Amino acid sequence: MDKKVASLLNQQVNKEFYSAYLYLDMANYYIDMDLDGFGNWYTIQAQEERDHAMLFMQYLQNNGVKVTLDAIDKPDKVFKKPIDPLVAAAEHERYVTDLIHTIYEAALKVKDFRTMQFLDWFVKEQGEEEKNADGMVKKFELFGDDPKSLYLLNQELAGRVYSAPSLVLD
Ligand code: MG
Repeated sequence: MDKKVASLLNQQVNKEFYSAYLYLDMANYYIDMDLDGFGNWYTIQAQEERDHAMLFMQYLQNNGVKVTLDAIDKPDKVFKKPIDPLVAAAEHERYVTDLIHTIYEAALKVKDFRTMQFLDWFVKEQGEEEKNADGMVKKFELFGDDPKSLYLLNQELAGRVYSAPSLVLD
């Protein structure tokens, strides 16, 4: 595999674990204020990010690239009010989309069609992630200020269940 592509994929393992860390930090913020439904939402989001990290790692392994694990940054976002993590999550997903696109660009440049095909799933996934994250901000803007609505929204988010990613590598 091209060195630049391999290095970017390896970095993405760390970025996905960081995403998991960031979402756990958000889960902790909400659980601490007794918004357990929001906490559940982000706990499951963190599980998905861990799955993404594992997929990048497995893809590298399958292609004979040794994976190097780096230190995971401390989540450093400051949340002052309940909408803050939702806005931060939407911003973060756009950042991750950029990362995926950068790897895709590097793969395209060296005609690494296998990596491009692997990344296709993530390109689509990021579309979903951005849509969901923006949807959370919109819902909170509409209902967050009314205690009764916030209670119901929290209950709705408590219903999210974990499901394994649809991408399965051999
Ligand atoms: Mg991810």
